[in-house]
Amino acid sequence: MGKVAIVTGAGRGIGKGIALRLAKDGLDVVVNDINAENVNQVAKEIEALGSNTMAIAADVSNEKEVYAMVDEVVGKFGQLDVMVANAGVANVKLAIEMTASEWDQIFAVNCRGMFLCDQAAAKQMIKQNSGKIINCASIAAHAGFYLLAAYSATKFAVRGFTQALAKELGSYGITVNAYCPGIVGTDMWELIDEKMGPYLGLPKGEVLKEYSKLITMGRVQTPDDVACFVSYLASADSNYMTGQSVMIDGGIVMS
Ligand code: ADP
Repeated sequence: MGKVAIVTGAGRGIGKGIALRLAKDGLDVVVNDINAENVNQVAKEIEALGSNTMAIAADVSNEKEVYAMVDEVVGKFGQLDVMVANAGVANVKLAIEMTASEWDQIFAVNCRGMFLCDQAAAKQMIKQNSGKIINCASIAAHAGFYLLAAYSATKFAVRGFTQALAKELGSYGITVNAYCPGIVGTDMWELIDEKMGPYLGLPKGEVLKEYSKLITMGRVQTPDDVACFVSYLASADSNYMTGQSVMIDGGIVMS
């Protein structure tokens, strides 16, 4: 039997790119997102590639929904080999303007959600004595970004958790790593561009352009630029790599 993966937040953007890539790699891919319409659409695209799939609309910050999702997947496929905890949200605000509930909401999805997905997956992977846990960090896990204080804080936390969990799971043959995308042309970056503009005195589209000038590779990245690295993390080729949070950012942070 082939490998089985869950990709959270796979209704669009980077997560969708990862889900499609893993399906092309020959894995059975479960598509999760909080947006039910999008999960069904992506699952259809995966089916069209000839892979087994399943669409699960669930909120990753909800403990019951996460455990029900993993139970359903193991019930149907009999195993879970790869968990990509990709779902994420951002808000663009000065820290002094942010409310406590806005702060909590970002942490609920980016940290609590990742923790729950990793934990539920790890319990199954321990039984199998193998597995790949892959978390979505960010370039904001390596440098705090202006107007993205809560988001940056969650992504630094993803890095710490990834390393600590890797230490706990290594003896079960489970690797835990994170990917750190840079400026990806997704809805999330469009939102960041739109919301940051007024703070920086820049019209729509210009924030992204300003950031893009710093990209060594000279272009905004695509979900596929990220998905190919996640494909590696999900494969046996990365069996000796664990606890790492690797930047796939076209060289923006170093510049
Ligand atoms: P990115 O640039 O990281 O791809 P997007 O905003 O385009 O950013 O995609 C993030 C995905 O995560 C969206 O499809 C969104 O619906 C999903 N998502 C956000 N919150 C949750 C949640 N609580 N549970 C599951 N999926 C979520």
